[in-house]
Amino acid sequence: MNAMNAIHETRATTAAPLVAFRDVRKSFGAFEVLKGIDLDIAPGEVVALIGRSGSGKSTALRCVNGLEKINGGTLTVCGRHLHESGTDLRDLRKDVGIVFQSYNLFPHLTVEQNVTLAPRKVHRISAADARTLAADVLAQVGLSDKAGNYPEQLSGGQQQRVAIARSLAMRPKLMLFDEVTSALDPELTGEVLRTIERLAASGMTMVLVTHEMSFASSVADKIVFMHQGRVWETGDGRMLSAPQTAELQQFVGNGL
Ligand code: ADP
Ligand code: MG
Repeated sequence: MNAMNAIHETRATTAAPLVAFRDVRKSFGAFEVLKGIDLDIAPGEVVALIGRSGSGKSTALRCVNGLEKINGGTLTVCGRHLHESGTDLRDLRKDVGIVFQSYNLFPHLTVEQNVTLAPRKVHRISAADARTLAADVLAQVGLSDKAGNYPEQLSGGQQQRVAIARSLAMRPKLMLFDEVTSALDPELTGEVLRTIERLAASGMTMVLVTHEMSFASSVADKIVFMHQGRVWETGDGRMLSAPQTAELQQFVGNGL
């Protein structure tokens, strides 16, 4: 275990969780996708959600920033009780950034304009402050020299890093990543994973859904294996080399 993990562990045992799932259920029609999820995420903790396609990973993630409404149990995120009616979702999403597989940058706006659009609108910051903010978050993703470029002038990996910077510009307390490298050519995934790794090392709390098993075991403090809408097995990076359940064994064995 490295020093960063040790710090995360200490925080995990002392600080109140930033995210608390308690018997969370979610159905689409008659189909129950989440069948009672229990999960705590402490400040500074990095959690990787793994599991087969259809096991409920994206749905669990989308519940955290209110893109899906839960049907049962309780879910508390950054002090807000999402199971209660009247949660201000726009306010929640200032604290919870989400990055998807598709990055959807505005093609007619520069990198800097893409990154500062939301904070300028939501926080009404000045043009000068927006420029400083853009410089700051673009440095975080290693793209300081691309502020004036348009998305089409960048590689897919660079565009995804801009999308990460765009989320960071809202100064979130928590970042969610849903298979952010899945749409990229293999040679472009490394730069995006390294960006996420640096963010993790800086102390950002994050939940990432990923198929990159070696990345998950090296960067995450906690790995959560989901199976058929349930948290099937939880552990640290070593869990993947010593699965306790037949289902995880089969999952890592197949590499899917
Ligand atoms: P994963 O991300 O692990 O692949 P998802 O959370 O996307 O899994 O999906 C879990 C299950 O829920 C799948 O069977 C999927 O078809 C179903 N599902 C997800 N979103 C919807 C939706 N909006 N309407 C109906 N079914 C859905
Ligand atoms: Mg998914």
